Amino acid sequence: MSVSLTLKNISRRYVKDNEEFMAVNNVNLEVNPGEFLTFLGPSGCGKTTTLRMIAGFETPTSGQILMDGVDITHVPANERGLGFVFQNYALFPHMKIFDNVAYGLKIRGETGASAAKKVREALDMVGLSKEEQRYPNQLSGGQQQRVALARVLVLRPKLLLMDEPLSNLDAKLRLHMRTEIRRIQKDIGITCLYVTHDQKEALTMSDRIMVMNRGHIDQLGTPMKLYEDPATPFVADFIGQANLIRGKLQSVDEQGLGHFVVDGQMLRARMGQQNPPAVGEEALLVVRPENLRMNEKDNGIEMRIVNRLFEGDRIDYHVVLEGSKQEKTFSMSVPFLPGTEIIDIDTSVNVSFNPQAGVL
Ligand code: ATP
Repeated sequence: MSVSLTLKNISRRYVKDNEEFMAVNNVNLEVNPGEFLTFLGPSGCGKTTTLRMIAGFETPTSGQILMDGVDITHVPANERGLGFVFQNYALFPHMKIFDNVAYGLKIRGETGASAAKKVREALDMVGLSKEEQRYPNQLSGGQQQRVALARVLVLRPKLLLMDEPLSNLDAKLRLHMRTEIRRIQKDIGITCLYVTHDQKEALTMSDRIMVMNRGHIDQLGTPMKLYEDPATPFVADFIGQANLIRGKLQSVDEQGLGHFVVDGQMLRARMGQQNPPAVGEEALLVVRPENLRMNEKDNGIEMRIVNRLFEGDRIDYHVVLEGSKQEKTFSMSVPFLPGTEIIDIDTSVNVSFNPQAGVL
C-alpha cells in the first residue's frame, strides 16, 4: 500500500517586500514507496513550502506532483489521502485519548465497532493501547506526540508528511522519538516525507536526505553519502561540522588522489565524485574534525592550537595556520579515552589526516 511520489520541475513564487522571489525553484524528486525522505535546510530554504505543495495547502506556480504516476497537482488537499503531522499538534484536552484518535473517523461518518477497531489498531501502532481512557494532560510530551501520530495514522493515509514534529519536545525526548517515529514508519511501511532543520535528526532517521538551499536542491542522497561526499561547501558545512581549506589542485596521481597546495605546503586528498575541481583550479578541501590528527607525520601541516574545549567524550581543539591568508580557525576533534594526552593552548602541532578522509 506504499505509494511513490514524483515532483517534476516544481516551483513556487512569492512576493516579499514588493519583489517576486522563488521560494521553491525547479525541484525534481522521486520518492520511492516506503521510503523515509527528509527535507533538510536552514530556515527559509523552502522545505515547508515544498511539503505544503505536496499536501495541497499551496499551489505550485509551475510543475507537477504525481502520486503513483497519477497527477495530483490540482487535487484538493482533503482528496489526496495524505496524513500531516505538524509541530503544534493540539490534542483536544477535554477528550480521552481514544476519542482524540477517533475524531477524524467521526468527521468522516465512521463510528461503531469498525471505527473502534481502527482506533485501537492506531493506538497499538504507536504503543499507547493502555492509555486510551486517559486524558492528554495525563500523558508525557512524547506520548502526546504519539497520540498526534495515531490520530493521523487512523485515517490510513497513503503518505505521511511531517513538519518539524519534534521541535516542541525537550532534548532527551526528541532523541527517543527519533527512533520511535522511524520504528513506527518502518512497521507500517508507509512512505514518509519529513521536514527538519536539525541535521542530526536527518542523519539518524532518513533513508535519503534532500538538502535545500535558497529554494533548490543542493544535494540528494543517503546520509552517509552526503557526509562523505558533499556536493557543495554549503552541504559540507550544514551536515556535520566541516573544515573547509582553500588551496589549488596541482595534480591527480595514479591512485586518484588530488595533490593540493595550501599556502605553499602540499596535502593529498580523495577526489570527490560530485563537483571535483580541475587541475590548476582553486578548490576547497573538506575535512571533518574527527579526521584531523596530531603529530602523525604523513599528510600534515603545521598549525597552532588557539583553543581547547573539553566535550566529555572528546576534546575539540581549534587550530590556525600560522601566517596564512586563511583567516579561518579549523576544528580538530580527538576522542577522549583513558590515557589521552592533553595538549596545551599555544602549542604548535603537525595536523594531519588520512588522504582518504579529505575530499576535494
Ligand atoms: P522554516 O524552517 O523557517 O519554516 P522553510 O525552509 O520551511 O523555513 P518556507 O517556510 O518554505 O521555508 O519559506 C521559504 C521562503 O518563502 C521564506 O523566505 C518565506 O519567508 C517565504 N514564504 C513562505 N510562505 C510565504 C507566503 N505565503 N508569502 C510570501 N512569502 C512566503
